Amino acid sequence: GEALAVSARVAPLGSRLVLLLVEDLTEARRIEAVRRDFVANVSHELKTPVGALSLLSEAVMDASDDPEAVQRFAGRMQIEATRLTNLVQELIDLSRVQNDDPLEDAEPVRVDELVAEAVDRCRHQAGTKQITMAAGGTADLHVWGNRGQLAAALGNLVENAVNYSPARTRVGIAARRVNAPGGDMIELAVTDQGIGISDKDKERIFERFYRVDPARSRQTGGTGLGLAIVKHVVASHGGEVTVWSAENQGSTFTLRLPEAGAARDRAQQHPDLD
Ligand code: ADP
Repeated sequence: GEALAVSARVAPLGSRLVLLLVEDLTEARRIEAVRRDFVANVSHELKTPVGALSLLSEAVMDASDDPEAVQRFAGRMQIEATRLTNLVQELIDLSRVQNDDPLEDAEPVRVDELVAEAVDRCRHQAGTKQITMAAGGTADLHVWGNRGQLAAALGNLVENAVNYSPARTRVGIAARRVNAPGGDMIELAVTDQGIGISDKDKERIFERFYRVDPARSRQTGGTGLGLAIVKHVVASHGGEVTVWSAENQGSTFTLRLPEAGAARDRAQQHPDLD
């Protein structure tokens, strides 16, 4: 409607300009719609645990002469409170990776340390499901970037691999250096033997709050923000993330990040002039 009216008015200026204007309006509208969706999603995600907490606290008061019921309700209150804490923490992480320039305090980060940290973060969950975790090829590799953000990105991928896999399967983390035109990159691949992701969903899983199966994600404490955080971290580091997956066979998420030596060499070739 509006875009068409504008295009009719400026048509005499030439079709190229019209096209640019229409594209601009469409993009501005898309951004506005995404922002509105995000706020609506956050509100909904916050309301769910808060509503549950409110109901459960009423139940506790009503059951005050039944100590067992009080225990049960209190346990569920704890789960909802944890869910709320996770969500708020992930919202803070997301806003940080969207707004801060990670390269302000970039440094060479040891890949074996990143991997060890990610594995540690999931050790408990993997243990209860008897999932074996194995890492290889990490020795002597360094990526260039913000240590905290890189750890969050890899940690999210390993956490997902464990969460979306059945018991007694294997999660592998493989690292290697690959040659690239602009300088060497480090590739970090997280492979699981889990439920996999359909082609249709593959296009959407990096969106904020998108989950293939919201009930399952919630059960494992997921917020639907993990992969959005991963996407932002790799983008701001000049890297990329790709996914290969086959349903009911498993998935591989691959991070490609600048190698520390290569990033430093690039900086020396183009020294800051001021
Ligand atoms: P969540 O907190 O729900 O895990 P993410 O942003 O990390 O949110 O992931 C989005 C969705 O992508 C998940 O809900 C899940 O449906 C799907 N997904 C992510 N990683 C995997 C994986 N390794 N195997 C299967 N599905 C996955």
